[in-house]
Amino acid sequence: MELTLYNSLHREKNVFTPMNPKRVTMYNCGPTVYSYAHIGNARAAVVADILFRVLRHIYGEDHVVYARNITDVDDKIIAAAKEQGVPISEITKKYAKIYQDDLAALNCLPPTTEPKATEHIGGMIALIETLIKDGYAYESDGHVFFDVSKYDEYGKLSGNTLDALKKGDRVGEGEVARKKRAADFVLWKPELDGVGWDAPFGKGRPGWHIECSAMAKSELGETIDIHCGGVDLKFPHHENEIAQSNCAHGKPMANYWVHNEFLNMAKRDGSSDKMSKSLGNVVLIRDLLEEWDGEVIRLALLKAHYRSELVWSEELLKESKAQLDGWYREIKKYRDVEFEPLAYNHPIFNDLNTIESLVIFNDFDFLTGAAKQTANLLGLLQKKPEEWFRGKGKAGGLTDAEIDELIAERSTARTDKNWARSDEIRDIFKAENIVLEDSKDGTTWRRG
Ligand SMILES: [Zn+2]
Repeated sequence: MELTLYNSLHREKNVFTPMNPKRVTMYNCGPTVYSYAHIGNARAAVVADILFRVLRHIYGEDHVVYARNITDVDDKIIAAAKEQGVPISEITKKYAKIYQDDLAALNCLPPTTEPKATEHIGGMIALIETLIKDGYAYESDGHVFFDVSKYDEYGKLSGNTLDALKKGDRVGEGEVARKKRAADFVLWKPELDGVGWDAPFGKGRPGWHIECSAMAKSELGETIDIHCGGVDLKFPHHENEIAQSNCAHGKPMANYWVHNEFLNMAKRDGSSDKMSKSLGNVVLIRDLLEEWDGEVIRLALLKAHYRSELVWSEELLKESKAQLDGWYREIKKYRDVEFEPLAYNHPIFNDLNTIESLVIFNDFDFLTGAAKQTANLLGLLQKKPEEWFRGKGKAGGLTDAEIDELIAERSTARTDKNWARSDEIRDIFKAENIVLEDSKDGTTWRRG
């Protein structure tokens, strides 16, 4: 079985060859946990999840190690904790759990390991010490900066030349005056509002980029097979991860870089806008899950190839819901089909072509095991059809257990010829839009 992947670093599609097929490694930049994740974050996580599933299919479940970090120290977290008058761990634990729950609802498998930045401060300090010792970084007034002029390949991933970088580098307050040049980026900065760790270069906290370099090394090794993430992280984040890790270890940080494109919001005139706070069009995973099943959201996210822009809209969700309803109606027909290995030319092995994989789905013979296997690689159709059609209960509505109880009560009432109660229960179901289907095997129900 051969997997081809588009490698952003070389700008070409190559056959993926892991360093060690018994231990294939992938790293994905996880969330900074101080607020709810949005649907753009979900796209990056779902793309990584598909890659994880495909690698597990090819190399075996025990031979793929997937690390997705949690950034639990950051200026925004410190600011939120200060504002709410709580320790930062209170904020980070809450939002890390919400992130994990949201992604689980989208059928994302848990990563093999989920390192937290605050548990890897020692590794970050060690990396920074190496970079200073080898002349790639310098100290300046409680800060440590990476000197980009010392790394010839800086800008290779993003295509940014040093000249271009001199202009538009965004930096934290007070950093500009302390740097040798605008493109240099911070590795370590002084303590803020009581948040800091002792280090040879002064009590302080890490810059964001060094966190990933240290965690990837500690969890996966000095060189990893695949580093993935959203294209918005390519520069400066991934460029800086490469600079730090390559210079500290004298070898490439990752052999393959896989970036997913932007998710933008549809506008009425057919064009699209970036999702941004200032435009007020940010869609949170949590809010969508109130209304839609996670599989509907997941299918909607797979409706563009990962290297193309995805234009998000309510229509996309409706279309995905209708498609899943149709597929679930079909799979009601098959039971206990054995999995079959997929053909080597299955589109999912061609740079994760989910679009073509979904087309196959449409004229699926749902009685084949290969179809079932495809559904598993896409992380779709993971429910029992009965469960799917029951749908999601609305807040304040009857729970599944309450419905089951009422059905049992209705059955007893009928046996006892208590027609008044039986009619009452029928009316409750009608009001709640719950459809009962009586058959010789008993009564099943779905939300209408
Ligand atoms: Zn990262």
